[in-house]
Amino acid sequence: MDASERRPYLKEDMEIIRTPEEMQERARALRRAGGTVGFVPTMGFLHEGHLSLMRIVRERADTVIASIFLNPTQFGPNEDLDAYPRDFERDEVLCREAGVDILFYPTAENMYAADASVWVDEEALSSVLCGAARPGHFRGVCTIVAKLLNIVQPDFMVMGEKDAQQLRVLRRMVRDLHFPVEIVSGPTIREPDGLAMSSRNKYLSPAERAEAVCLFQALEKAKALFAEGECTAEKIKAALHEIITVTSGEVDYIEIVDDETLQPLELLQKPVLVALAVKFSGARLIDNTVLA
Ligand code: AMP
Repeated sequence: MDASERRPYLKEDMEIIRTPEEMQERARALRRAGGTVGFVPTMGFLHEGHLSLMRIVRERADTVIASIFLNPTQFGPNEDLDAYPRDFERDEVLCREAGVDILFYPTAENMYAADASVWVDEEALSSVLCGAARPGHFRGVCTIVAKLLNIVQPDFMVMGEKDAQQLRVLRRMVRDLHFPVEIVSGPTIREPDGLAMSSRNKYLSPAERAEAVCLFQALEKAKALFAEGECTAEKIKAALHEIITVTSGEVDYIEIVDDETLQPLELLQKPVLVALAVKFSGARLIDNTVLA
């Protein structure tokens, strides 16, 4: 077997671009040339979840652009920005192997003017779930993604269903601000025991890592109860709480919300999003499933 069979997407001559001006210029040239451009924004410390999104782009676009930018404005003052894992050299190799053509890797100084004063705020979907737990988080997310879309100018952007609220908030932003981009979603990639892959899993102690599968188990329980005909949100949430509370994880939220509006529901009569966030001492983890 030669290298191309083992790593079918390997892109030896991947370009790395570090400034927004250069990236925008390159993106403009790509648009003039007429091919399709697909984009995957990330914060780095890549895992199979990120790579799966890059492969989705590789299969659909002429040019694959990925970004690695640890966006400071989406972290609160007491959150884990400084501790967030980073390993650019490893990420670079993984991007090459996933077939990325251009890796955009700017600095915070290049992305934000010291006196930056314009923000993008989504005001409905952002106020619940992680938005309630992390004030200002989605303002930071919307602002950076708006900036990245203006810089990279892709035809489509691929995002993970793992971050269900983020996906819905950004779809709303793209709709309401008429960004000329399609958002495509990719399924959540999991470890063999069901734990959703996340850059933050690295910070779980071995005991917490073993317990962290409780998020997945809780979602499986919700699916099973729903399949048996249980439609009362309170009952399903109580069963999920029971699964989490036997671990050292602290429930941040367990919610059953309308899949479109993200407002809480008492009865599961239309598609719902079951979303949970659990804090372990090493990391706060989120996961979700849709019941329809
Ligand atoms: P992040 O680097 O955490 O900002 O994530 C970048 C993109 O990867 C987002 O669209 C995430 O939803 C997506 N992502 C993160 N974890 C996973 C996963 N386990 N499976 C699929 N996509 C993921």
